[in-house]
Amino acid sequence: MPKDRDTASAQPVPWAVTCEFLVSVVAIEGLPGDKKVEVAFAGRSNVGKSTLLNALVGRKKLAKTSNTPGRTRMLNFFHLKNPELDCYLVDMPGYGYARAARGQIFRWTGLVKDYMRGRANLRRVYLLIDSRRGLMAADKEILKLLQDAAVSTQVILTKADKLRNDERTLALEKLTRDLKPYVVVHPDILMTSAIKKTGIDDLRAALIATCKG
Ligand code: GDP
Repeated sequence: MPKDRDTASAQPVPWAVTCEFLVSVVAIEGLPGDKKVEVAFAGRSNVGKSTLLNALVGRKKLAKTSNTPGRTRMLNFFHLKNPELDCYLVDMPGYGYARAARGQIFRWTGLVKDYMRGRANLRRVYLLIDSRRGLMAADKEILKLLQDAAVSTQVILTKADKLRNDERTLALEKLTRDLKPYVVVHPDILMTSAIKKTGIDDLRAALIATCKG
């Protein structure tokens, strides 16, 4: 069960990270050729990915780069570096937007499938789920892709501040049940609120452990 930083008196983890935009990739041929460890962040449009990534790296500009017109359908690579971490963070295009054209969904799936299948240095995909909504049909499609490609996955619940404590517990229980069929998913679910800055230290610690391991 993730710790609740709302009430915890724990000292915040010191975190000074540099985060530089590297490249936007539209096709698999454009992926960086070096062997640096990568972690990727995926989620439905509006799940709170930009806000969480900004909170994670402590920089307002990061998500702005990814949301620049033309870059929203691409894999956006950032280089994260501090004494404990030296990895690429990959901001994946949001999916499941109701009004997205079929062709667009198809292209997204194509790029993401290629990326997940063939990327040896991809350590983990962090899949963001809105804590109020739980697992939706589009999330299940992505989980199937991750499962088929045998990519280590960890779920991050977003917008936890919108739920009461008892609702958070229920949401975690339901999600744990719903995730059972997906063996690639890490058993620890991270509960976060980018607005209240809760769960961010846990996410940073998870990221460091993943990239070191
Ligand atoms: P993206 O499309 O996944 O990048 O989502 P955004 O980061 O743009 O967030 C979508 C909406 O959710 C915005 O209105 C944010 O202000 C809001 N939001 C994001 N994170 C949180 C959070 O932790 N708590 C609350 N209450 N709202 C959030």
